[in-house]
Amino acid sequence: MAFEESSEFCKYCNRQVLAHRKGTNHILHLLLTVFTGGLWLIMWWICSKEKDNWRCTVCGQEMEPTIEALTKSFYLDLVTSIVLLILIIVFIWQAVKLL
Ligand SMILES: [Zn+2]
Repeated sequence: MAFEESSEFCKYCNRQVLAHRKGTNHILHLLLTVFTGGLWLIMWWICSKEKDNWRCTVCGQEMEPTIEALTKSFYLDLVTSIVLLILIIVFIWQAVKLL
């Protein structure tokens, strides 16, 4: 399990704090994709979409996402989805060529 860290504002501590959340272990998914000949790409894409909210490392409370965090997350998800979609299309194209 990979963890992501970010500086976020905690309304309970009323200050900027270090926050963390569970993230996607892209190295593990890349290895699984290679070992399954590309089939794991779909699971990788699904796993990369599931994200917990940030949690304050000081008080442990779950933080409500800010507009900036939502925007950043949206563009990051968009780029990840496009890259994985291209890889899925390439995999299917290569599989069709073999038939
Ligand atoms: Zn806090």
